[in-house]
Amino acid sequence: MKFRIFGIAMAALMLLSLHFLPKASAEESHGRYHQHLEEPGYTPCEDHGKNVFCSHLPLVVIDTEGQEIPGAITGYADRFNTSIYTKTAENTSMINVSVSVIDNKEGNNHLTDTADFTTRSLFRIRGNTSRRFEKSPYLMDFVDDSGGNNEIEVMGMDAHHEWALNGPYLDKSLVRNYMWYNISGEMMEYAPNVRYCELFLNGEYRGLYLMVETITDGEAGRLNLEESYKGENMTGYLLRIDRPTEEEIETTRNIYSFVERMNISLEDVAIRYPGKNNLTPELAKEIEGDFARFEKSLYSFDYDKEDYGYQNWIDMDNFVDYYLINEFTHNVDAGRFSTYYYKEVGGKFKMCVWDFNNSCDNFVEDAFGAEGMFVGEKPFFFMLVKDEEFVERIISRYHEVRSTYFSDTWMERYIDETMQWLGPAVERNNERWRYAFTDYEPLQPESRNLHSHEEAVEQLKTWLRERGAWMDKNIDALRAVAHPSRNKVYNN
Ligand SMILES: [Zn+2]
Repeated sequence: MKFRIFGIAMAALMLLSLHFLPKASAEESHGRYHQHLEEPGYTPCEDHGKNVFCSHLPLVVIDTEGQEIPGAITGYADRFNTSIYTKTAENTSMINVSVSVIDNKEGNNHLTDTADFTTRSLFRIRGNTSRRFEKSPYLMDFVDDSGGNNEIEVMGMDAHHEWALNGPYLDKSLVRNYMWYNISGEMMEYAPNVRYCELFLNGEYRGLYLMVETITDGEAGRLNLEESYKGENMTGYLLRIDRPTEEEIETTRNIYSFVERMNISLEDVAIRYPGKNNLTPELAKEIEGDFARFEKSLYSFDYDKEDYGYQNWIDMDNFVDYYLINEFTHNVDAGRFSTYYYKEVGGKFKMCVWDFNNSCDNFVEDAFGAEGMFVGEKPFFFMLVKDEEFVERIISRYHEVRSTYFSDTWMERYIDETMQWLGPAVERNNERWRYAFTDYEPLQPESRNLHSHEEAVEQLKTWLRERGAWMDKNIDALRAVAHPSRNKVYNN
């Protein structure tokens, strides 16, 4: 009996401790907002019938006023294998639409409720592979009546004009992006904030979406890349490695001269900030030069030279966390596509996570299973994993987070609690996209395509457990990759 009481007490303690998000240290807590822990779940309203749409999630209501939404893929340009997207009749890439967000802080949301805000917004389909999905992801750029940026606080996230609406579709568990953006936000200084919501487009219910901050400069909450270039102080800047779009090749400055060692198409590295209106030729040259000096340092093998070591250029903790998050989730594109590097004014290079659609064995073309490491083959990391100090920091940080955010119990509880909180919204979404579980089988081989949301959630949990077990056994093998016997130090 004594043991039983002890057991119950221990179980209660464990439940209690799991309920609070573990923090590795006080400085590390970034005050991340986890919507499912902060906002009430669904309680049915008493004063209306069943035919009224009623959700505890914020509602996003978009009216394109009869305009076709541009941004669908129509083909590829020859030279760069660059995607070509549909445009408007006026040959622009975005239309101007009306966006309302209904977000009653207390109680449920209905289409007839007073909106939290209504704004004009530029609007198009966004994404890479996901542009092909029938449940499209969208980009919104809020504008005021004179066409200027309209900065608005959205669902409690800091005011900005640019937002991404990501509709989980390929990810039938619906939780990959929400979970990993939030874990990243706990571990790293910045990861885009996210909120679940439900979308109505031209009066039609489009299911569950995730409102996501885009990676860009912002007064608060986003990156501090302020434009203060006066020919002497380097401005902050943001680079992206990805497949460029046709429009981007025309309008953004690419770094042609200095990326040869990354072994990728030169067109794939673009300056995303400052934007085209503020990127003077002088400033672009400064940024190219800065980036080139960093690359030279990284590829020089002078790791331990105080004067030229790459550690002068990058925020080590940030790169270690980017590595671990993307390695653990086997997020196949990370480091090569949808990959963002930024340098805040006076700071060092940092990376920002983006897009977990294909993570955790949800990549369309291949099943990866729970084995293997791949981030060390990507640009920059190819060199970083040759440095023993970088590898020791990865291993030590791995064991730290494996007992917190990457622990089996923590991750499973996170998924369960999120699903419980989403409640009837899951069923509504799956009712709307029912065929996603029958006719729609994009994953190869076909057996990987699951036929219920419950199976998809179970598959994700099982994969995470197996991945953790594999990483536990193999993380130390990185030491062999970094060993000097394998990486001759040239300049000693
Ligand atoms: Zn209601």
